[in-house]
Parts: sequence; C-alpha cells; structure tokens
Amino acid sequence: MDNPIHDPFAHVPERLSGLVDLAYNLWWSWNPEARILFKQVNQQAWKASGHNPVRMLREIPAGFLNRAAETPAYCNRYDIIMRRFQKYMSATGTWFTEEYSGNPSLPIAYFSAEYGLHHSLPIYAGGLGFLAGDHLKEASDLGLPMVAVGFLYSQGYLHQQISPDGWQEDVTEPFDRDAAPVTRVLDANGDDLVVRVPQIDPPIYVAVWKVQVGRIPLYLLDTDLPCNDPKNRGISSRLYAGDQEQRLRQEIVLGIGGRKVLHALGIEYAAVHLNEGHPAFALLERIRERVERGMTFEEALAEVQATSVFTTHTPVPAGHDVFPVDLIDRYFKTYYPALGIDRTRFLQLGVHPQSPGSGFNMTAFALRASTHHNGVSRTNGTVTRDMWRCLWPGSLEATVPIDYVTNGVHVSTWLNPRMKKLYDRHIGPTSPEWLSTHDDPTVWELIDEIPDAELWHLHLWLKAKLLNRIREQERIKWATHHGGALNPAAEGAFLNPSVLTIGFARRFSTYKRAHLIFEDRERLKRILNNPWYPVQIIFAGKAHPADNEGKRLLQQIYRYTQQPEFGGRIAFIEDYNDQVARYLVHGVDVWLNNPLPPMEASGTSGMKASLNGVLNLSILDGWWTEGYNGRNGWAFGDETVACEGRNSADASAIYDLLEKEVVPLYYNRSIDDIPHGWVKMMKESIKSNGPRFSSRRMVKEYVARYYPSLLKGAGMESCQTPAVKLRAPAWGPRVRRKAGEEGE
Ligand SMILES: *Cc1c(COP(=O)(O)O)cnc(C)c1O
Repeated sequence: MDNPIHDPFAHVPERLSGLVDLAYNLWWSWNPEARILFKQVNQQAWKASGHNPVRMLREIPAGFLNRAAETPAYCNRYDIIMRRFQKYMSATGTWFTEEYSGNPSLPIAYFSAEYGLHHSLPIYAGGLGFLAGDHLKEASDLGLPMVAVGFLYSQGYLHQQISPDGWQEDVTEPFDRDAAPVTRVLDANGDDLVVRVPQIDPPIYVAVWKVQVGRIPLYLLDTDLPCNDPKNRGISSRLYAGDQEQRLRQEIVLGIGGRKVLHALGIEYAAVHLNEGHPAFALLERIRERVERGMTFEEALAEVQATSVFTTHTPVPAGHDVFPVDLIDRYFKTYYPALGIDRTRFLQLGVHPQSPGSGFNMTAFALRASTHHNGVSRTNGTVTRDMWRCLWPGSLEATVPIDYVTNGVHVSTWLNPRMKKLYDRHIGPTSPEWLSTHDDPTVWELIDEIPDAELWHLHLWLKAKLLNRIREQERIKWATHHGGALNPAAEGAFLNPSVLTIGFARRFSTYKRAHLIFEDRERLKRILNNPWYPVQIIFAGKAHPADNEGKRLLQQIYRYTQQPEFGGRIAFIEDYNDQVARYLVHGVDVWLNNPLPPMEASGTSGMKASLNGVLNLSILDGWWTEGYNGRNGWAFGDETVACEGRNSADASAIYDLLEKEVVPLYYNRSIDDIPHGWVKMMKESIKSNGPRFSSRRMVKEYVARYYPSLLKGAGMESCQTPAVKLRAPAWGPRVRRKAGEEGE
C-alpha cells in the first residue's frame, strides 16, 4: 500500500506557497532580495537555519508564516520577487538567445567532481568547486543552455575544529539531504530513479538527485543504495577518495555513470565540458556509444574530440590522476572490445610519453580525447603547454594546441549587497543596466564618481561586520565549552577595527605557503607591534584530512597566534567555508597571496576581494600576472631567485612592501580621517578587476571560443526513447498556482 508521504511544507500557507519553489532554486543564493524574503519571515529562524531556506521553511513554526501571509507589505514584496523569479526562469531575452539565436539550444553537458554553490550543499573542497559553481550560475544568468553532473557526497562536510594545541580535528557532519536544496529524481513509477553504470562488473548502481541552479539543472550521483555492496555504497561517500581503487571507481561512476544518467533522463546535449580530468571517462563512454551505433573507433574518437572541451588546472605532474594498469585491466577488460580496440590501443590513450610505464593518466587521456583544451590563466596556459608538449612531439611550447581562459568569479555571488547598492547609486544614474553588462570595462569607470567618504565608511562597516562575526563565534565557543579552553588571541578577541588588517584564507596546501610571512619573525613582530601604525593578520583555511604536513603548518601558525610577542595581532578563524570567505573578502583591508610560482593555476579569492575594494598584495602568479597594473594593489616575486632562496626573498619583498608602501598609505589620513590615497587604490582595484575577472567574461569567452561550433549540434547525443520518465518529487518544489497569479 502507498504510504502517504509526509509533506514537510504542509504548514506553508497557500498565499506564500511559492517560497517552497524559491527555496529549491539556488537563484536565491545570488539574489539578496530573494534572501530577504526568507529573512523577513523571521530573522532568528533565518539565522538558525544557517541561511538555508529549505531548512528554515521545514523548521519554522507555522505562526510566523501565517503572520507574514497576513501582512500586506510582506505579500506585496513577495509578489514582486516571485514575478521577477518567474521572469528570470522563463529565459526569454537573455544574452545568449539574442547573440546566438540561430543555434539550436541543445545544452552543453558540464562535468565536475565538485561544485561550490552554497554551504547548504557540502559538495566541494575548494577553488575548483567554486569555479564550477560560478560557471553554472553565470551560464544561468546568460541564458546559456547547460546541464551539469556531479556527486552527492553522503558524508558531506568535514568541519574543522582546532584543538587547544592547534591541531586540526576533522569532524564529519553527514549531509542532511532533507534540509538541503536537493530533490530526488524519481522514475515513472514514482520510485527512486536508479541507473546501472554500464559495462562495470560487479555492477554499480546510482541514484540521482537534482539541484536547480537558476535555469541550470545539476544532477548529483549517489551510490549509497542498499542494492550496492558496501564498497560500492561508499563510492560517493566523500570527495576525492584516498585509496586509488576507490578513486578510480569514483571517476568511473562520475564519467561513465554520469553520461548514462543523462541518457536515462532523456537529456540530449551538443557537447561535453570537463572541469579537470576526474570526469574524463565520460568521453570514453561517448566513444563507446558511437561504436555501438556502427562507427569505427577512429571515427567515433574524431567526433567526440570535436565536441569536447577540457579545462585543466593542475600545473604539476604529481597532481594528475594516474591509475596502474592492473586496476585499469580489472575495470575495463570488457570495455576494450566494446570500443572495438585492443588492450594496447586502449592503454595508449592514457600513456604519458615521458613515463610510459606509469599507468593510465587521466589528463593525457582527456587531452587526446578532446580538441578544445585550456588552462585557467595566461601563465597557467604557458605552464600547461610546456608540461604537455610531449603529446605533440616536435612542437615548440608556443605551438602546442592548449589555450587558456582566465577564471572569473560570479559578481552577484561575491559582491557584497551593500557594496552593490553603493555601486548602483553611483553607476546606476548613467548606466541603469550596469549589472547585466558588468563585463564592460567602460561602465566601471563610473566607480570614480563614488565619494571617497562613502566608499571608505562602507568598507569600515564591512570590517566591523567581520570582527563582530569573529567575536560572536568566539562567544559561542566559550559558551559551549562552559567558559573553558579559550585561546582569545587565536580566536580573534583582540582584533581591532582601526588596525590595518591583512587576510590570508585558503586551503592549507603546502604550495600556498601560509607560513611565509613568519620567515623573519623578528621583522614581522616589529611590523605588527608598531605602536603608531599597527598591523593585524587573520588566517583561515583547512588542511586536507590526510595532509599531515599541511596540519603541522597550521599548528605552527596557531602557536604563533598564542605567543604574546606577536601582540595578539594574529588570529586563526576555524572552519573556513564560503560564508567565512565572504566575510573576509568583504571586510579585510589587504588580501595576501604568496604561493610558490607557478603552482597557483589562477586563484580566485583575490578576485572576490578586489570586487569589494579589498587590495591585493600578491605574488606574480596565476591571475595576478594579468590583473596587476601598478596602481591597483601590490605585486612581488622575482623569478630569477633560485629555489632555495625563494622563501626568504619573497618574505623580504612582502615586509618591504608593508613597511614602505602598504602601511604608510593606509595610515596617511587627511583631516577627515579618510586615507584618500588608499581609497583611490580601492577604486582602481574595483574598476580594473571587476569586469575582467568576472565569470561573465569567462563564460562568454568559452562561448565565443569553443561552444558555438559545438552548439550547432555536430556531435549531438541523441536518445530517441528516454529509458525512464520523470515525475515531480513527492515533496519539494510543488507545482501549484503560478506565483504571478496569486492575490489577483
Ligand atoms: C574562492 C574560494 C576558494 C578558492 O580560493 P583560492 O584563491 O583559489 O585559493 C576556496 N575556498 C573558498 C571557501 C572560496 O570561497
């Protein structure tokens, strides 16, 4: 017998039923007006939900919702926002439809192992994920047809707790799917859709979840099913499994299973875009299907190459996945004949010419199976061409066919809403549509019209917000530990809003050199403790759970925070995520970036900072070699210094810049207590970087460079008869009255 499914949103009044639909579309995450709609129902409930509308709507007592439904001002706002939302979703008059109206709008299928969209969806580790998330949001805004595939990781978040002696403890929090903006995909009978990964024996089954990112659907694969054996169940338990075999199985599920899931959903697409090599087996499956339809392997390969884009980020050989041949044999032995080739030819597809015996290299394979491939900044393009020129024997670096598209960040996601309002006020009168044309640099010239005092005071307000949040976290920690076990300096209790504040937040990978500024500790102490012109530093970031070296580095920094000689002017903020990142890139004065070149493929946190008027103090690597113009921040890094001397040379360069330029400029105040020179540089940073390092510029570049020929449908994946039908989930976004019709 059918069990009536409990509707967790039954208490949402009919008048406001659109809130449920809105909660299940991440559009709210980059539209502050939509978030305010939730916040206005009840501010405490909004806060308690961790700014997650699905959780909030499930948990909030009906009384608050009923009261909102009876408040005319609220309902009016609700109607306006819901109409905007519907207009957005109807996808007419977008940039894409206007520019490329002749193209059939088959989507690009985007594959990535991680997506950084919002902290209510813990399916990311770092920069690669945020890049993918921003790519989807931007594709949605531009009206670019896209469908995305990833994983739903059941273990969800790895929270970072720092023990009193500074050691990172990794606390897993299982992913509560019911309280996140994901819905289950069901089959025609209303049962969970389950798809078998083809060719793999013993079989692996995947369930499918859907996240709606504006107009873009993102399908997440989940192997945590009773019909899978325990080892298979664990394939999607967490990001980047450590054990090599499990990692291979993950990549098989993502690429081959992901391709199969799109097929099962009846989704046709024109081309595939791979974000890094993890999902590259998707190309293998595309070849196999064509061979099955009667093509030769070479014909199939050529067609797949022509319709595949591969973006590679990793600038060192050790960073690429390589699987031993015996593992490949175990999983692909039935695959070789299915492709119409023998084992030798198959293994050749993944050979690294300089270490042919090492196994199946995913990047080498992805480069061979795609015509369009790129690095993610100008310098990264050069490094990538140099690293892979062995695949094009006889080529010079410059002629290796690997291009670059510099990364960018999604402006509406990373620009602080108050900052956006300030820009609106001053850009808006001349260019009311500035936000929808924000990749046009001329529009940003209007930033100069913002009075210094307004920009400066808003910046100070954002800095105060950051410090308030830090103290509030400390208070919560103190209260939960019953007043014990506090490290006030480390936790930021002594941070002072009038002190020049440097932010350093990123994953604790050794190449990012979080410890670099401690190279000459005496000099650093003098800089921090200058009685007239003090400086403080806020660190944040997680080490990978298996990276003990990264954890030791973190512990060392944590110990420095506790040493009184540093004056209580260094803090370490626990549990870096996108929320912490937001406070930091909005609220510090200077964003410090000092990786070991050329290891930072692009870096995106500095772009987020500059968008908000936070000045970059960065080594010339990744995006900053393109972004730095001599007036919009500071640059250092002398490439001619030998490796051993690099740390001390780079650290000295930072101290020199701080002592001679950064600190004096910050504290040089006029009678109105505003550092006009500093504010000038803030404006220069905003207007020079804002348009160029936006995901809008990035996605348009992908479109112009690669997608149009693909969107013509040359390599269209067709599946005349979808294997299953889709039905709306039993709960979640419900098809009710259209919001625009309400109250009329
Ligand atoms: C932007 C972002 C990153 C990536 O920043 P990098 O500069 O590339 O290190 C990582 N984590 C979070 C939470 C971010 O918001």
